[in-house]
Amino acid sequence: MDSVPGNSTLPSCQENSSLLSIFAFFSINRPMLELAIHKVHDEERQGEAYAPFTLDPNQYSKRFYIESYGCQMNFADSEIVASILNQQGFGATRNVEEADLIFLNTCSIREKAEQTVRKRLTEFRKLKRDRPGTLVGVLGCMAERLKSKFLEEEKLVDLVVGPDAYRTLPALVEEAGSGQKAINVLLSRDETYADISPIRLDSNGVSAFVSIMRGCNNMCSFCVVPFTRGRERSRDARSILAECRDLFGNGYREVTLLGQNVDSYYYAGAEEETGYSEPVTFARLLEQIARISPLLRVRFSTSHPKDITDEVLYTMARHENICKYIHLPVQSGSTRILQMMNRTYTREWYMAKVDRIREIMPDCSISADIIAGFCTEEEADHHDTLSIMEYARYDYSYMFFYSERPGTLAQRRYKDDVPEEVKKRRLAEIIAVQNRMSLESNRQDLGKTFRILIEGESKKSSGHWMGRSSQNKVFVFAKNGGAAGKGDYVNVRVNECTQGTLLGDIVD
Ligand code: SAM
Ligand code: SF4
Repeated sequence: MDSVPGNSTLPSCQENSSLLSIFAFFSINRPMLELAIHKVHDEERQGEAYAPFTLDPNQYSKRFYIESYGCQMNFADSEIVASILNQQGFGATRNVEEADLIFLNTCSIREKAEQTVRKRLTEFRKLKRDRPGTLVGVLGCMAERLKSKFLEEEKLVDLVVGPDAYRTLPALVEEAGSGQKAINVLLSRDETYADISPIRLDSNGVSAFVSIMRGCNNMCSFCVVPFTRGRERSRDARSILAECRDLFGNGYREVTLLGQNVDSYYYAGAEEETGYSEPVTFARLLEQIARISPLLRVRFSTSHPKDITDEVLYTMARHENICKYIHLPVQSGSTRILQMMNRTYTREWYMAKVDRIREIMPDCSISADIIAGFCTEEEADHHDTLSIMEYARYDYSYMFFYSERPGTLAQRRYKDDVPEEVKKRRLAEIIAVQNRMSLESNRQDLGKTFRILIEGESKKSSGHWMGRSSQNKVFVFAKNGGAAGKGDYVNVRVNECTQGTLLGDIVD
């Protein structure tokens, strides 16, 4: 299963006007595809190896190498792993050949990730032969499912560590170093790594991801996440606020709060820090973070439509620095399919939520995740999906075709009965609708001026900056010898656009 490049800190995708037609090409050739024009699941970062920590004066005698796959939560987890390993005297390297420890932080939401990881592990085996003593480990969501396969059957790895067991890494590394197979895939009900300060690997120094919760209790029938990442738990609000303040103090100007279902964030017992005598809900957390500074932008992902409340929407509307952008995965436009997916809302209910967002924040952009070809999906259901997309006018979407995952409710209850060519054709139709709507949405911005946070130089031209609007759209504009730099806000007037990028000029 594969997908197309995302943009995140890699603006070149947005700058490529032909990209979406390439997406369409991929879509009919790959089993699962996403059109990634925002940060949560950034395809260009898949398999990315982290650079050594910047501004780290230490000399290390031992080094670790880590490649990350999957959603942004996994990338954020790699920063926690880096922090734990750094405490043990390991420095990061991007050169796998000089690493004493090699880790793959894996994802199982997509079938192809498994094949990619196996291929990478085989390559590492050769490397281990040349450098005896090098340890190879599998981290993250694939750990539980493939532990015996990787460790015992195929003998590809020395360590297998699940997403809730990173604190035990030092002991496991020692165990593996003494020739034993080291494994910990236990899921926890309370681990949030709240006290571990992540080491920002490869950061642009402007925007950072902050995990606010882990796991998921939702049990959407297609999804493997509740099995690989365990029960939902919210991180201590005080540690989240401290991390955000610290980031702002270190020059960061944007935080994205991460969780599988951020709107169900709930933390009790932080009165002295938050000023609230009641438990901290997501709306309250958002407000507290927004108050750190008007110069700190706040984003979040992902919202489950059933949990996003008016209180959250009004909080967003009240604070200019809470970005006007909501990722609101719909999955399907058919009530029947939504029921089988266990999404707990109907088509009409979802549409009313979109109305409510637009009523409270007319300038809010909305994106979605969409699955084509779920079990029993008929043409009529598919047309419901196309029409709900038109109704919601998504600015962009992540689009997949259904891929049965072992152990999920859907795999146990339903037959994966939509033929692959039908899934691919429907996905191509969904992509075509989204491509048209993305371009239309960008065209509507022509002539308007937006406040842009500069994230860095454009990948394509050192004479241009790349930044984002509150709505999470990517802007590219000439520097023109101005004083503005990375981390600054500028007003940019839009002159031209492609499907993925708005081009303009600073009008400050
Ligand atoms: N928690 C988020 C939510 O509920 O919106 C989504 C998390 S999931 C990591 C990201 C997306 O992957 C889902 O929204 C869904 O569209 C897609 N996905 C998950 N399982 C899938 C499967 N078995 N086949 C195809 N797409 C899948
Ligand atoms: Fe998976 Fe649903 Fe949880 Fe999202 S909300 S992680 S799709 S089970």
